Amino acid sequence: MQLTILGSGAATKPILKRSGSAYLLKIKDDLILLDAGPGTLRQFLKAKKDYFKLTHILISHTHADHLSELMPILQSIFVRTLELVGDKREKPLIIIGPPGFKRVYQNLRKAMMPEKESYQVQVFEMGNSKKDFKNWRLESTIVRHVKFWDSVAFKISTKDRVFVYSGDTGFCPEIIDFCRGADVLLLEATMPISIAFPKDHLNPQFVSEIAHLSGAKLIILTHLYDLDTPADIRKEISKKFKGKITIARDLEKIAL
Ligand SMILES: [Zn+2]
Ligand SMILES: [Zn+2]
Repeated sequence: MQLTILGSGAATKPILKRSGSAYLLKIKDDLILLDAGPGTLRQFLKAKKDYFKLTHILISHTHADHLSELMPILQSIFVRTLELVGDKREKPLIIIGPPGFKRVYQNLRKAMMPEKESYQVQVFEMGNSKKDFKNWRLESTIVRHVKFWDSVAFKISTKDRVFVYSGDTGFCPEIIDFCRGADVLLLEATMPISIAFPKDHLNPQFVSEIAHLSGAKLIILTHLYDLDTPADIRKEISKKFKGKITIARDLEKIAL
């Protein structure tokens, strides 16, 4: 597995060095995008990756900072299949979102891209469920985030690695259980140390607890506002977690 951080930023305050939530995972022939926050297409170009080759798009929840570039990505793929460019897609594009996602997807299509796709698209919803692909297994769990709809975390397992992406989550039993036994955790760490008990997001104290209980070897912190210094974040997390800590940077590539 190879992970590329396309966007490690968070929602409300744009930061030049951090684009909207988006992570790219390569597993053999599959190219999997985890979330599609604002700016994702341009991050593909900067990372020298080709969005046309995407095989899977996983959306953790439908907040704009995780979803808003989905339609531009689909439109760009569509345009490349037209005669002006003539690129051909062989595999279907599999798009997976949380419960209720199909309706959101249909509404977005109707409003933003009503053209019929020129390639095969399959849309699925996942709550507390799993799905097997050729070289990997996808599991999801509903985590505590906001009250309007469900948000999920994703677990991707190959024969020798288990990787978890938290999406956006508060500190809840579901995310703790889901991370147990994973090798690598990509965890949101939106809130600063000074906010001791955030409800809808994690702070470094909660990240430390989840990481410690998981037994993971490596954690990657993301969805960042940079409100604490990297040294302070590391110090706080190291109080419980003894594995390796990476603070995500956009365009960074990490072999898992
Ligand atoms: Zn959110
Ligand atoms: Zn978010």
